[in-house]
Amino acid sequence: MTARLALAAVVVIGLAGCTSAKPDPVPSATPVPSASIVESAEPSAEPTPTGEAEPQASPARSQAPRPPRITTPPIALNCTGSQPSDRPQAGGAGPLGTVKTTGNTTVALTFDDGPDPVNTPKVLDLLRQCGVKATFCVNGVKAQANPTLIRRIHNDGHTLCNHTWKHITQLGDYGVDLIRQDLTDTNNAIRAIVPDARVPYFRAPGGRWTADYLSVCQELGMTPTHWDVDTRDWESSRWGKGESMVNHIVGVVQGQTRPGSIVLMHDYQKPDTTTALHTALPWLKARFTLVALPRDGLPKP
Ligand SMILES: [Zn+2]
Repeated sequence: MTARLALAAVVVIGLAGCTSAKPDPVPSATPVPSASIVESAEPSAEPTPTGEAEPQASPARSQAPRPPRITTPPIALNCTGSQPSDRPQAGGAGPLGTVKTTGNTTVALTFDDGPDPVNTPKVLDLLRQCGVKATFCVNGVKAQANPTLIRRIHNDGHTLCNHTWKHITQLGDYGVDLIRQDLTDTNNAIRAIVPDARVPYFRAPGGRWTADYLSVCQELGMTPTHWDVDTRDWESSRWGKGESMVNHIVGVVQGQTRPGSIVLMHDYQKPDTTTALHTALPWLKARFTLVALPRDGLPKP
């Protein structure tokens, strides 16, 4: 009897030791107060575009993401921090020599694939509350459909970036003539709404850069702009939706942003990104100088 109990105890201790020795395969999701998750419904007006896939992830970035570190209940924005003073430079290099950092200590938030009639106004509200300027990489067809939002992005002091007419991920393979037409149509759609706006940046859909993109960018006077931090906020197949995605986004932002980072997020059909900003924006602003990419273009390094 005693021997049997002792054996059982050994077995239990052995299993417990095995369990505790195993690495935690899933980032421990810090619960977010349910009151903070206010956006849950995704609009379904347009098919979800193919997300940005980081094509040349560094070995460090391809490892399992760090556990989320939500430190502040994302209820009300309480943004403290310095105002922009440093002017970003062209920092690199991303794929094919694209710009991937600001070249100094400033951090640039970029929002892709919009404008979105539901989420973009919320993102703009949060940026305004926090006193932060950002860069919006918009699609021409959505700009044309949401002129009020393009006007507000511009009037709020944010920077506009060309993200092609309708986010065809293979556009870079279609030759310079079609690329030039697509990018020109997109710039024209933006300028039809905000004639005084410059569009000095271009980002390839999915980050699928080609030499032809770079050639057309040079021709049209746009800086090909990649990113340094990819939140992968489109990858719901891996990170889920709702609280788990919010925690993932916050974890990436808090774990990977460094001085000079250009951070990739999406405002199009990504309500979890909007929710994550309630935590990420104050956190970032307390630690970095957040800037829009210069509206008159990047100076050379
Ligand atoms: Zn995109």
